[in-house]
Amino acid sequence: MSAQDILSLTPAGLYCAAGDFHIDAMRPVDRALVTHGHSDHARAGHRSVLATAQTLDIMDTRYGADFCHERQVAILGKPIRIGGVTVTFHPAGHVLGSAQITVEKNGFTVTVSGDYKRAHDPTCLPFEPVRSDAFVTEATFGLPVFHFPEARVEAQKLLASQALFPDRTHLVGAYALGKAQRVIRTLRDLGYERPIYLHGAMVRLCELYARLGVDLGPLVRVDPKERGRLGGEIVLSPPGALRDTWARKFPDPLTVAASGWMRVRARARLKGVELPLIVSDHSDWAQLCATVKDVGCSELWVTHGEADALVHWAEQQGIAARPLHMIGYGEEETEEALDEAA
Ligand SMILES: [Zn+2]
Ligand SMILES: [Zn+2]
Repeated sequence: MSAQDILSLTPAGLYCAAGDFHIDAMRPVDRALVTHGHSDHARAGHRSVLATAQTLDIMDTRYGADFCHERQVAILGKPIRIGGVTVTFHPAGHVLGSAQITVEKNGFTVTVSGDYKRAHDPTCLPFEPVRSDAFVTEATFGLPVFHFPEARVEAQKLLASQALFPDRTHLVGAYALGKAQRVIRTLRDLGYERPIYLHGAMVRLCELYARLGVDLGPLVRVDPKERGRLGGEIVLSPPGALRDTWARKFPDPLTVAASGWMRVRARARLKGVELPLIVSDHSDWAQLCATVKDVGCSELWVTHGEADALVHWAEQQGIAARPLHMIGYGEEETEEALDEAA
């Protein structure tokens, strides 16, 4: 058996015929299994959605209660029989509720990782390697140049800058689901107790995280009329808002961005980012390679990103590797994402 006996690539995404479901379908389908709440994986309009309780809550928060007709909760580690296959969700370490999905048929296992990272993240469960015959991975940062430092080291740079420029507003561009909460929680772990100010587009998901048990400390929605008084404070906003007139009303704003792309200095300069923080919810090159080894797969499918280098590396390890070149994934850390509000 091989992975293609279980999964095939259709216009709506990865499809399992034996179970008649899609994983992270890109267009409305009858039955969708969803790895996590980012909009490129979790879309509204499916008839039924099977996902972790947190992912369902995130979809509800982003799309409204009618995002699908039927919800089914996947419990981590608990096998679910669907048609001719058995499906199990395992933590992916990417954002709150994120999961890998393992599909088993006649003893052959394929694990679809969704997005994942191996680095510490205080806002979600750590990635759990699942021994699998085939592994489906992303490769957003699949080049050896991508090496990510510890998030707390990067967050310390923000606090050091705040101490150095106590009158300037530190405007931090961070993706609204996952990144923002991870940055906030990391600052709290470093002992930062002052209120952290939020652009309106960040508020609902931060409230949801807090409701689901991720303590983010005191958060205050920015009152547009009060912006002039927020000198010296830390303000989080969607990356796109950093370039809006919204950002210009703060006292001498210092622009900060938290993204894996900040590893590329030219990109930070291009975006006018004064303080780039290399914080990613994706795996860097070393993590991707280590994970493929941990999973012990003999077959590797690469959904999107820098597929070529990873495919080449895998082949050198004796793993049959295949780039899928899927279009539509990878939104949350691409240019387009810089303009997404929530
Ligand atoms: Zn994601
Ligand atoms: Zn993604």
